[in-house]
Amino acid sequence: MRKKIVAGNWKMHKNAAQTSELLSELIAKVPANTTAQVIVAPTFVNLAAAVNQLKGTNISVSAQNVHQTESGAFTGEISADMLTSVGVNTVILGHSERRAIFHESDALIADKVNTALKHDMTVIFCFGEELKDRQSGNHFNIVENQLKDGLFQVDAKSWDKIVLAYEPVWAIGTGETASPEQAQEMHEFIRETILKAYGKEIAENATILYGGSVKPENAKEIFGKPDVDGGLIGGAALKADDFVAIVTAI
Ligand code: 13P
Repeated sequence: MRKKIVAGNWKMHKNAAQTSELLSELIAKVPANTTAQVIVAPTFVNLAAAVNQLKGTNISVSAQNVHQTESGAFTGEISADMLTSVGVNTVILGHSERRAIFHESDALIADKVNTALKHDMTVIFCFGEELKDRQSGNHFNIVENQLKDGLFQVDAKSWDKIVLAYEPVWAIGTGETASPEQAQEMHEFIRETILKAYGKEIAENATILYGGSVKPENAKEIFGKPDVDGGLIGGAALKADDFVAIVTAI
């Protein structure tokens, strides 16, 4: 059985007090016996406090980014060693906002993936097509290239540290989610693409999350699809009741 995961990407939301408050609510409300592994990704400055607050719970912490080099004159950047030194062992990479707004290329994302893996971190690797790609029917090509150029440099034994998150850009923060059928169709394609590159066992064991306007109202149907192993949640992760409803929809 492959791992099920529901992760909340908090993006640039929640100050220190608000982070602590939301975490307290999640600690109280996430059931102890949840099927899904639960991950939250607050912003950098609140990660260390989040790790401390969540000690002994079934919720773990992820960063939203990491720099590709070990250390140096990179004003404003955060290294993998800094993250692991405060107990953060997971990182979201390749998010469409990093690709579009911060101009992260597949090659840069590949470097970041390699660095995170070198530090034994788990990588939540995000990818997905833009609206124009879907409209032109090019979405499978785009996704295949993002996987090949950003992720498939990793060796087979690293795959227990990889989680995939398919996030069609047109569904992020728009309220428009991919239909459960569109999600399943793409997730099946992603698994086939992994199979061709790494073989059946790795493909079968790969956890592939869906992200893009997942809400309590649509989570169950999306998570019910055979190749959807959970979700990467943006807006709905900022409210405890909504996030917990999504966690328990698995
Ligand atoms: P929304 O759930 O707000 O659409 O965001 C999805 C996302 O980008 C998660 O990384």
